[in-house]
Amino acid sequence: MAKLIDGKAVAASVRAGIAQEVAAMQENDGVTPGLAVVIVGDDPASRTYVNNKKKACAEAGIYSEEYALPATTTQQELVDLVQTLNRKQDIDGILVQLPLPKGLDEKAVIEAIDPSKDVDAFHESNVGRIMIGNFHFLPCTPAGVMELLRSENIEVAGKHCVVVGRSNIVGKPMAMLLLHSNGTVTICHSKTQDLPAVCRSADILVSAVGKAKFITGDMVKPGAAVIDVGMNRDENGKLCGDVDFASVEPVAGYLTPVPGGVGPMTIAMLLKNTLAAAKLHCKAEEK
Ligand code: NDP
Repeated sequence: MAKLIDGKAVAASVRAGIAQEVAAMQENDGVTPGLAVVIVGDDPASRTYVNNKKKACAEAGIYSEEYALPATTTQQELVDLVQTLNRKQDIDGILVQLPLPKGLDEKAVIEAIDPSKDVDAFHESNVGRIMIGNFHFLPCTPAGVMELLRSENIEVAGKHCVVVGRSNIVGKPMAMLLLHSNGTVTICHSKTQDLPAVCRSADILVSAVGKAKFITGDMVKPGAAVIDVGMNRDENGKLCGDVDFASVEPVAGYLTPVPGGVGPMTIAMLLKNTLAAAKLHCKAEEK
């Protein structure tokens, strides 16, 4: 039976550490880290994510501002707002909640964010920094996965790590972080041949596909660590991951549940990045 990795508990401990650091920063430097969250349109899932992020900021002592714009917002209006936030002294991090409504160019909006305030680490210059291992921020979800592996002392070095999914926000950066930790990494996608066999050779299997019950027990090496990034709805509308829990749990050595696995880590890492951005801006001011 797999040991379940309790993402809620790990995230709570990360958040408590961040709250302490924020308090120390306020006391020693008189600085409160600030995050601006921009939401465009009225997608209910985005609204829930934004509310959760604001709540988490408040709990950690991080100042946050919300900019809720109508779905009719133009590209220029959105870029203008981002540029205003780039100049705002009390804002260290800017998060534009994705996806944006149709007609808005996400890539151009992300590129408009000052890289030192890009706490999602989606800006091209931050992506490049991650590639060469000289980064200010790590993308929140992959960074959260690494933190979960560390919490259980799961060794990455020398292990075969298989990442299923190659998106820019999860799969590719996930593979890069595992590589930086000296894993031997295979990235799979929809054109991969004999996916079950590749997955079965993984000591660490990370699934970021977005399909319920996609990873089944016969795709898992006995004792492997299985990290489920997926967030899907099952046939009853219930939140579930990519992993078929019933068949994988008896085979895997470790398994992250959904909900309560990777999800809570994503927000904890956003707070961590906002604190890192504030430190970066403090240092820049000292110079
Ligand atoms: P994308 O849709 O951008 O990427 C999905 C990837 O899965 C693609 O690379 C695709 O391959 C691959 N894929 C699709 N079908 C198959 C298949 N049959 N065999 C092998 N690979 C396949 O999704 P994201 O990366 O944005 O997100 C993935 C999941 O993670 C989603 O469920 C999302 O909701 C969740 N998520 C969870 C977060 C959290 O905090 N827990 C945060 C972010 C995302 P190809 O490139 O060839 O099309």
